[in-house]
Amino acid sequence: MLNLVLFGPPGAGKGTQSQKLIDRYELVHISTGDIFRAHIANQTELGQRVSQLIADGELVPDSITIAMLEEEIDKNPQARGFIFDGFPRTVAQAEALDHFLESKDSGITGVIALDVTEAELTARIAKRKAISNRADDDSEKLKKRIEEYFHKTIHVLPYYERQGKLTKVNGIGDIEVIFNEISGVIDGFNNG
Ligand code: ADP
Repeated sequence: MLNLVLFGPPGAGKGTQSQKLIDRYELVHISTGDIFRAHIANQTELGQRVSQLIADGELVPDSITIAMLEEEIDKNPQARGFIFDGFPRTVAQAEALDHFLESKDSGITGVIALDVTEAELTARIAKRKAISNRADDDSEKLKKRIEEYFHKTIHVLPYYERQGKLTKVNGIGDIEVIFNEISGVIDGFNNG
């Protein structure tokens, strides 16, 4: 299997690049943010439990997020691989993902981290806010999301670095150029 983690702060371009990658590599895209938003839109019990946290830009507790992710993986037994977008966001999530994939005789192939400066992120999300309608894109909530990233999520990077699975890609510039660079990294996994 080809299992990729696309890593980066809010606004790094994970969603945009994921869309392009699933087309080229025929992978199943799992975005925990998208799944949470679908639950909220459908007013499921889970959606009701997480909607305030998400609106406030805080992380959803690991127990809820991990259970939801495992369920999503299990919905796709035929997948030739997955792109995880927005997961793992904590070291506990990264460990849980490793254990879960191991139990299926699989594992993470590689992690691609999109490198973007904080100034660029704030500018991008301000632009996205004008069209996205996401409750968590207003400036206070966004500040909280970026803070959560730099306090909690950033620690996931050394976790994968220790495993020798981390590759950083410059996330600023032309979308196609970034995509080609990511594709080059993935082709390296396939051939290596
Ligand atoms: P972004 O990367 O732009 O912040 P996402 O769509 O990935 O947006 O996530 C939106 C929100 O969903 C997060 O701010 C958080 O509240 C929640 N969320 C998504 N994924 C996770 C996760 N793996 N762990 C905890 N909370 C999550």
